[in-house]
Amino acid sequence: MKEPDIGRVILVGAGPGAPDLLTLRAARALAAADVVVHDGLIDPAVLDLAPPHARRISVAKQRARHTLSQDKIGDLLVTEARAGNLVVRLKGGDPFVFGRGGEEVAACRAADIAVEVIPGVSSALGAAAEALLPLTHRDHASSVSFVAGQCKGLSDQNWAGLAGKGRTLVIYMGVSAADAIAEKLIADGLSPDTPCAILERGTLPGSRALRTLLADLGGAVVREKIASPALLVVGDVAALGTADNVLIRLTQSIDA
Ligand code: SAH
Repeated sequence: MKEPDIGRVILVGAGPGAPDLLTLRAARALAAADVVVHDGLIDPAVLDLAPPHARRISVAKQRARHTLSQDKIGDLLVTEARAGNLVVRLKGGDPFVFGRGGEEVAACRAADIAVEVIPGVSSALGAAAEALLPLTHRDHASSVSFVAGQCKGLSDQNWAGLAGKGRTLVIYMGVSAADAIAEKLIADGLSPDTPCAILERGTLPGSRALRTLLADLGGAVVREKIASPALLVVGDVAALGTADNVLIRLTQSIDA
């Protein structure tokens, strides 16, 4: 009997939320999928790009509640590919920006399964574009850093040099630790008056872009009941965003 052909795995970035921010290459991969293994928060319109017969498997993760461990996800991708399937692993934003794409690629390679990565628009890029907030700017910022701001391990992280004059710091997964993050940055020498933006549900329905100053970052998150997914942007460029819904103007004008 003929061995079944070995399948392969494609890690696909689904973009920040709005389905039309998916790349054409991602849409083509979905159209060819036998199995789609996806995170939560993926728009049904994107999942609909897979053929009706393609199996859809959700491995949605929530903070503190992992539906499927990372190892199990790796095993699932390998098992499905070994069974001869074209497996699309669909992830929010970009697979290699806080997407654990590195571990999934490693799992496939260790099992000799062909693996490919299709980039996606990371949420920082999607949300910043929507809020008309340039992450770099010839006059205001010549570097941009992406950091993960979960409470766990926050104090061990060395962000020295990533924020301050001429630099933009974008914090993913930082909403619940916003207060501690602001404190840490101020303790590291950043001015409490540094402009900040909170970009909630970027490119999704009901998105909000809020502006404040670093000293108020934690307070703003609480007052405005900011919920995940949201990003924190720290740096002078945060004052440039001109989204419709700039909600917070403190006494010191950051436009001055
Ligand atoms: N790979 C993803 C990031 C996954 S980590 C990417 O490239 O965007 C999850 C974090 O991403 C969330 O906690 C939040 O900080 C951010 N995020 C994802 N989607 C978002 C959105 N639509 N708006 C704002 N932040 C978002």
